[in-house]
Amino acid sequence: MMNKKAIITSALPYANGEIHLGHVASTYLPADVTTRFLKLNGVEAYYVCASDDFGTPILIQSEKEEKTPAEYVAHWNKRDYDDFSAFNIGFDYFYKTSSPENIAFVQDVFKKLNDADHIYEQEIIQFYCNNDKKFLPDRYVKGTCPYCQTEDQYSDLCESCGRVPEEITDPKCSLCGQPPTKEKTKHYFFKLKNFGDALSKWLDENIHLQKDVKKYVQNWIKSGLIDWDITRDISWGVPVPLDDAHNKVFYGWFDNHLAYISTAIKFLNDKGINGKEFWNSADIYHFIGKDIVYHHYLFLPAMRLGINNEYKLPDYIPTRGHLTLQGKKISKSRNWYIGLKEFLEYYPADYLRYYLVSINPYSQDDLNFDWDDFTTRINSELIGNLGNFVNRALGFTKKVFDGKIPETDSFDEKDSEAKQKITNLAADVGSLMEQNHLDRALKKIMEFSSFFNQYFQHKEPWKKGPGTANCVFLSVNAARSLAMAIFPFIPESAQKIWCQLGLSGNIHESSWKELSALGIPSGHILGDPSPLFTKVETSDIEKHKKQLGPSE
Ligand SMILES: [Zn+2]
Ligand SMILES: [Zn+2]
Repeated sequence: MMNKKAIITSALPYANGEIHLGHVASTYLPADVTTRFLKLNGVEAYYVCASDDFGTPILIQSEKEEKTPAEYVAHWNKRDYDDFSAFNIGFDYFYKTSSPENIAFVQDVFKKLNDADHIYEQEIIQFYCNNDKKFLPDRYVKGTCPYCQTEDQYSDLCESCGRVPEEITDPKCSLCGQPPTKEKTKHYFFKLKNFGDALSKWLDENIHLQKDVKKYVQNWIKSGLIDWDITRDISWGVPVPLDDAHNKVFYGWFDNHLAYISTAIKFLNDKGINGKEFWNSADIYHFIGKDIVYHHYLFLPAMRLGINNEYKLPDYIPTRGHLTLQGKKISKSRNWYIGLKEFLEYYPADYLRYYLVSINPYSQDDLNFDWDDFTTRINSELIGNLGNFVNRALGFTKKVFDGKIPETDSFDEKDSEAKQKITNLAADVGSLMEQNHLDRALKKIMEFSSFFNQYFQHKEPWKKGPGTANCVFLSVNAARSLAMAIFPFIPESAQKIWCQLGLSGNIHESSWKELSALGIPSGHILGDPSPLFTKVETSDIEKHKKQLGPSE
């Protein structure tokens, strides 16, 4: 049985630059498709998100642009939200980690962890740049990962092996390139070591977490967890709420995932719903990319365990791989990326949504954006299959029956098979969606469309022989089912089909199980059919390829 309440989050966008295709592929799009699906199923589902506003990269960049960090992040918060909206990412609420609610919440969680003896203070030796006259946490230092020996990694995360190094090898100041010196400072630590057994138990018991991810997180736990330095000597962050914590702030990964909770609670409370009660009775989904597994499978649950599950742990952490572009790693500095905003100036949101879901399995395997593959999939699948079927069925009905659905005769074998396809669609697609296999669910829908293309072809209604009325009746009903099933994936096009079918209201108000009904009766009058899509031109695609950075 599906839980009737859900809160969906996706990795928070770092308020430090524009959203590109790599961001939306692994997290925001799968989360949005899932939320739309849950809502159609009558689940009271809320998709909440926030910009991640704190940390050293933002401080460094705002200094360069001579803005205050608050001005700097306010700009990106708005821009990111606008870009997401243009892509039909339907957040119920989009807030920020620098909100007063999140700051108060983070400080409260810290106090509770401190009272429960999960925090200690320790003098540490920190990198310090004598040239820049400052402590150098995280991204201020680059070096070699001690675990996998990959060079040129930031000190707070190895992008190659995904681990957080205790100390990076061969460090260099990322501002000036000088080797830093070491100075003493006092930091606060979270006793992650305390939680090895509890985390292991939680991983074992949670049946919804991906098996392959669990396995290597279990290995991390077995090889020994290290306590976690949660404070920084910088000016931009959530202040540590202790009198003797002079000018220290929390590390971004201490506060940002707490904004999942504080943002949801703020949104729900504002709606007149008890936010905490809702959180604790809902299914909790955190959609992430595989680069932040460490943070979401260890830090995040350990902190919730440390405050006695006052806010329940996640049920689902759908974790997907990275997007490459034309087979190469996305890189902003080499201009090897495509901004979301830019893409949407060329093609409708639904083209990108369709393509990115279709190439994105429920796994940590990387996926590749390829302009030629994009063209093929849009032209032959989305347009050649789905667009063609809908336009053909509706166009024929308009032309021959003046848009009025005819009375049916008794069904022949082919009609009965077609009717059965409609009857099965909700369950066939729904079970894949519930298991997070969005790509397979989409494929199933396209197979349904393909079946009806063949059915229509086979019945030859243009000959107006016996059985024409049945073909029209079933095809138009199949178009309705198709619109409803595909709505979570390509909502704008689904709504267009809905209107062309002459159905009233907004398609998002319909319900998933109704999609397997023959919901359009004889006598119903269609709206005006018109082509749903325009073809992707290969000449344009060649231009887009050239707009990418120089290949190496
Ligand atoms: Zn590494
Ligand atoms: Zn320096």
